[in-house]
Amino acid sequence: MEREKIVVIEDEADIREVTEYNLTREGYQVHASPDGEQGLQLVKKVVPDLVLLDLMLPGLDGIEVCRALKSDPLTRAVPVIMVTAKGEESDIVLGLGMGADDYVTKPFSPKELIARVKAVLRRSPLKAELTNQTRIERGEVTIDIERHEVRVEGVSVSFTATELKLLYFLASHPGRVFTRDHLLSRIGCEDTFVVDRNIDVHVRSVRKKLDKHRDLIETIRGIGYRFQDEPS
Ligand code: CA
Repeated sequence: MEREKIVVIEDEADIREVTEYNLTREGYQVHASPDGEQGLQLVKKVVPDLVLLDLMLPGLDGIEVCRALKSDPLTRAVPVIMVTAKGEESDIVLGLGMGADDYVTKPFSPKELIARVKAVLRRSPLKAELTNQTRIERGEVTIDIERHEVRVEGVSVSFTATELKLLYFLASHPGRVFTRDHLLSRIGCEDTFVVDRNIDVHVRSVRKKLDKHRDLIETIRGIGYRFQDEPS
């Protein structure tokens, strides 16, 4: 099997080397760049399976690199994991809004990094066949979008259309963080019945209905929400 390719764009030499070392040891083919502009060219040349992108870079910063990747048809589908320092929540929100798939916060352990990389590769649109799933089962919670039904521990619970859409959307992307704006646009843009534009209100209501399973929807402070990743 051909090894999956990862491009690492990181200006701090020690972090770049440790990352390269760990990813290589895990069996990935790694290409690295210390610079945003060069890194962008490298991604276009390699067209990797994944990009690990530091946000704070000299010259072209991570957000600009992400924007360039997501606006180029050649690289648009390549998943991006942003690498951020603590306190860069607003940049994370910006990056996720631009199409980045996930992020890790420095300092991270090799174990954490590998777990994020594997999770993103697993759900990458580059390889996942599009399963047009209408029913999602997660432990004691079953969501059936066609029948407009949510069952919690076998009991049917009444959901509004907005709540159902929100839960279904999150649950169909386990482990992926979405910003409030993204969620709102997914559940609401064409629907006049979304009266409340405040996504937190809908999330609160969905959690209440999930009762004991409310923790399936995690709050990512300063950023948004995520449906719990499936245990691997
Ligand atoms: Ca940096």
